[in-house]
Amino acid sequence: MTHIKENLSEIEKKIQAACERTGRTREEVTLIAVTKTKPVEDIREVIDYGINDIGENKVQEILMKYPEFQEQLIWHMIGHLQTNKVKMIIDQVDLIHSVDSLKLAAKINDEAKKIDKVQKILIQINIAEEESKFGLEVDDVEELIRDIAKLPNIMIKGLMTIAPFVEDSEENRGIFRQMTQIFVDINKKNIDNVIMNTLSMGMTNDYEVAIEEGSTMVRIGTAIFGQRNYH
Ligand SMILES: *Cc1c(COP(=O)(O)O)cnc(C)c1O
Repeated sequence: MTHIKENLSEIEKKIQAACERTGRTREEVTLIAVTKTKPVEDIREVIDYGINDIGENKVQEILMKYPEFQEQLIWHMIGHLQTNKVKMIIDQVDLIHSVDSLKLAAKINDEAKKIDKVQKILIQINIAEEESKFGLEVDDVEELIRDIAKLPNIMIKGLMTIAPFVEDSEENRGIFRQMTQIFVDINKKNIDNVIMNTLSMGMTNDYEVAIEEGSTMVRIGTAIFGQRNYH
């Protein structure tokens, strides 16, 4: 017995409340169900409740799960992507959230070209600069965007960040605010071929604050499906 239905309706209320508090409309925020480590049955359940956006962070899991669904879902690659795996998922993913180098972007461009696709991507920023896992430093963002914008088979849709895990989500408010500022600043520069409308930020522990600060895509796993079991 899962609590997916109850969890989703609770999250939906909180998303709506966060939108209302800041004068935003619910339509401005997309809820991505992060289904990593979770079985196909759980994904079926959220689809039944109206979810269309599915987030996975491993190529292998996308390859396993994608063929199980005939319906038109929107698949988000939210995890670190190695260049040698791009070709395995290029025809399956709608949005790649985790582009943080020109090398990766160039590879995506090449593989997208082969299948006649314009791949939508987000630029991942490591704004907290905490023991730097993946993502770009703030100072390098504009230059990378200018370089990637020249690649014809890529469309930069916006920015993404993974904020640190904190007990009190208020601690991440400054990070989300800074992300929105970078987003606005870059849009003002009118870079050819760059029309950013997507800001992917906010997870189970901090999505309400992220929405208050301008997020347009929240990526939620644990709050929907419960704790992940890694074995
Ligand atoms: C796992 C994951 C999430 C979801 O995290 P929860 O805390 O379970 O909501 C969001 N974004 C990325 C990139 C992830 O890897």
